[in-house]
Amino acid sequence: MSQSTHSAPPQLENIKRTTLSFYRYVKVADPAEFRNRLYTAFLQFGCLGRIYVAYEGINAQMNVPTDVWSEFDTWLQAQPELTGVPYKIAVEEGEVPAFKKLHVRVRSKIVADGLNDASFDVTDTGAYLTAAEMNALVEDPEAVVVDMRNAYESEIGHFTGAITPDVDTFREELAVAPTLLAPYKHKMVGLYCTGGIRCEKASAWLKHHGFENVRHLKGGIIDYAHQVKEQGLPNYFQGKNFVFDGRLGERIGDEVIAHCHLCRTEKSDTHYHCKNQICHVLFLGCPGCMKAYNGYCCRLCSLMDRLPERLKKVIARYYNRFFRPAQFKKAPLRALS
Ligand SMILES: [Zn+2]
Ligand SMILES: [Zn+2]
Repeated sequence: MSQSTHSAPPQLENIKRTTLSFYRYVKVADPAEFRNRLYTAFLQFGCLGRIYVAYEGINAQMNVPTDVWSEFDTWLQAQPELTGVPYKIAVEEGEVPAFKKLHVRVRSKIVADGLNDASFDVTDTGAYLTAAEMNALVEDPEAVVVDMRNAYESEIGHFTGAITPDVDTFREELAVAPTLLAPYKHKMVGLYCTGGIRCEKASAWLKHHGFENVRHLKGGIIDYAHQVKEQGLPNYFQGKNFVFDGRLGERIGDEVIAHCHLCRTEKSDTHYHCKNQICHVLFLGCPGCMKAYNGYCCRLCSLMDRLPERLKKVIARYYNRFFRPAQFKKAPLRALS
């Protein structure tokens, strides 16, 4: 299998790690100071991952060596900005290490949403939904469930009967949502995303646009999966939850709902990066096509990759300038199951 291979630095290999994510909208007085405080501590604990800090809060996707978990937890909860912050622990660890490095960065926002926060009340968010309440919405023919993630995420997994907008970014999603969901303005609208962070903004945004009954899944799909297991609830999330780390997805429902992007007939929800570094597009491949195309997304990429390095460099420059390389291959839209 030619799934993109990530290798951790030698000293970090073979350590049992706990993958987690957390976020909080909280006023950060000095993001640079907060960033340095986190970076120094996380480095000492041997953490890896991507953490974004802004005046509006923190968004973290990371892992922690399992043997220092309790020290990590004690330190984190002692930080005034983070006291009581809930973690979302990964459902499955997978064989590919989730992260290769530790990055803690200061950004203008913790999620790129394209919104002018001064133009509406960002704190007027919708009420939370528990997993059991989410299930009730899925079963309710009068309610509507909306996937606030991108099309490449909902393609491999989504709630039964959910509306899955055909968008590539969260920014785009927020731009189309008020119009797309206009028929449901007076109905119960249940939003969900990966870990809950996008819905905080999205629910406030929809309320600002006059939606009366907006609620969102607390802790997102990750926490839903845990609650379903713990409480023995029926699972209405079909397929995989796309995650933005080396694992690319974690299985929630047993069924495979997506199709291979190359043959478009075989079912597959396993993502691969095209082996041609100039392309590097993320696509779904079935075992047959991965063998036939030798890990490339198309014949052209396999040809391009055989050229001498110098020529490839020239092509890369031209390609990046004139064809904005897509990050994800898109599937033709199919009827939802
Ligand atoms: Zn195929
Ligand atoms: Zn390619």
